[in-house]
Amino acid sequence: MKVAIIGCTHAGISAMNECLKYNPDAEITVYERHADISYLSCATYLHIGGDVKDLGDVFYANPEEFIKKGVHMRMQHDVIKIDAQAHTILAQNLKTRELLHDKYDKLILATGSRTSIPVIAGIENPKILLCKTCNQAHQLSEASKNNHKIAVLGGGYAGVELTEGFVKSGHEIVLFQRNDQLLDEYVDTTISERVKKLLEDNHVTVLTGTNVSRFSDTKDGHLKISTEDDNEYIVDMVAICPGVLPQSDLLKGQVNIAKNGAIITNAYMQTSDPDIFAAGDVTEIQYNPTLTSKYIPLASHAVRQGTLDGMNLFKRRRKSMGSQATSGMLLFGQTIACTGLTLNAAKDANYDAHHVYFESNYRPDFMPTNTKINIELVYDRKSRRVLGAQFMSSHEVAQSANTVSVIIQNNNTIDDLAYVDMLFSPNFDEPFNYLNLVAQKAIDKELDYWGMD
Ligand SMILES: Cc1cc2nc3c(=O)[nH]c(=O)nc-3n(C[C@H](O)[C@H](O)[C@H](O)COP(=O)(O)OP(=O)(O)OC[C@H]3O[C@@H](n4cnc5c(N)ncnc54)[C@H](O)[C@@H]3O)c2cc1C
Repeated sequence: MKVAIIGCTHAGISAMNECLKYNPDAEITVYERHADISYLSCATYLHIGGDVKDLGDVFYANPEEFIKKGVHMRMQHDVIKIDAQAHTILAQNLKTRELLHDKYDKLILATGSRTSIPVIAGIENPKILLCKTCNQAHQLSEASKNNHKIAVLGGGYAGVELTEGFVKSGHEIVLFQRNDQLLDEYVDTTISERVKKLLEDNHVTVLTGTNVSRFSDTKDGHLKISTEDDNEYIVDMVAICPGVLPQSDLLKGQVNIAKNGAIITNAYMQTSDPDIFAAGDVTEIQYNPTLTSKYIPLASHAVRQGTLDGMNLFKRRRKSMGSQATSGMLLFGQTIACTGLTLNAAKDANYDAHHVYFESNYRPDFMPTNTKINIELVYDRKSRRVLGAQFMSSHEVAQSANTVSVIIQNNNTIDDLAYVDMLFSPNFDEPFNYLNLVAQKAIDKELDYWGMD
């Protein structure tokens, strides 16, 4: 059986690993545009900030290890056409320009995403750079060596992390965010405002609710950024982090595709063509808090979905569990982590949503050091189900977001979270862990609520 995998970053690599394990007799051919595999985009800001000295260190896989396992690794090959009915592929060798025809029995599409370039006059200016691929990371890092004042466009997690990287490398930063809130898809106002203050305390100019309308060169070699509210900012270069779009063109008109361009699969990651599977940024994922299919491009999704592709290719072995879109970042020593719905998103999804905000030291005050943790817990009043949580602290709270992810996955209520067994040691927490305590606060709030009714 011939298996073709198109795209070899996180989704493609996971699919290949699992395919080798579960289908040892299959003949696997991988097509990848780039010369290397497995670049982690989050390394870009870590490199700029100096935590990762060499970008070459962040690759966790290389083509040679798969060649040794018998995989045909067609590196620097661009697939330009798939004929799903005929089960054929047309690819081009990017080094020789040669065209190559191939056949497959099963195909895995792991072509990921590309940056969604905003339509702004002057966006093609060479002083405006991207931050997704390894090449782009090199370009950004090189360009920043000769430029001091940098604008970052986009206040999602990629833009916020990149801002920190540039601050650490001694640059002056202006962060532009169209929405009124930073990280608006991940956290509610209270934590978002804390993030903004954290950036401002680190000398970042944060412009929320600001729409960039034009980029233009100045006579003295700088870049002018004009905004819709008639302000102008002069910088030396711009990094844009505006989000991504699924790269599904190869299967357009051949399998079911959502309006946003993401490929629709069933729980086994199979597309509407039973011989074609998909994974990663090119697909949607079942979003458990709303039980809807959603486009949530994350490496954590790509590796899970790719794994399922490889497992399920010839035999249905395991269904996707969906996702709570759990994510986290470390920003100037503060962990910011979240899972599930924000309050705004929960209301938009027509939940009778409420929230509690919990701020407290994480462990007893008799311990030599202590620090505050901030938790926002979102829940549904009717069912009392936990819908989401957000955390911010200089204490490590990322794993608490993972715990709440499981709580949401299992449809647990605030009552479950309030009293579920959690360890106690003065080193780590109070006799009731802070997750128990925030849920108890929600229960107390609901007592008031029902009392008032
Ligand atoms: C700045 C930044 C920071 C991020 N940080 C995080 C993080 O901290 N945590 C997290 O979970 N996620 C993070 N992400 C998201 C994460 O990078 C993506 O979700 C992940 O890369 C998706 O993996 P993928 O394999 O599906 O797709 P991609 O990484 O997009 O890879 C697709 C591959 O397919 C190849 N390809 C595409 N078309 C063709 C073709 N026609 N022929 C041959 N090859 C082709 C491409 O060359 C590429 O190698 C970040 C993203 C960015 C941009």
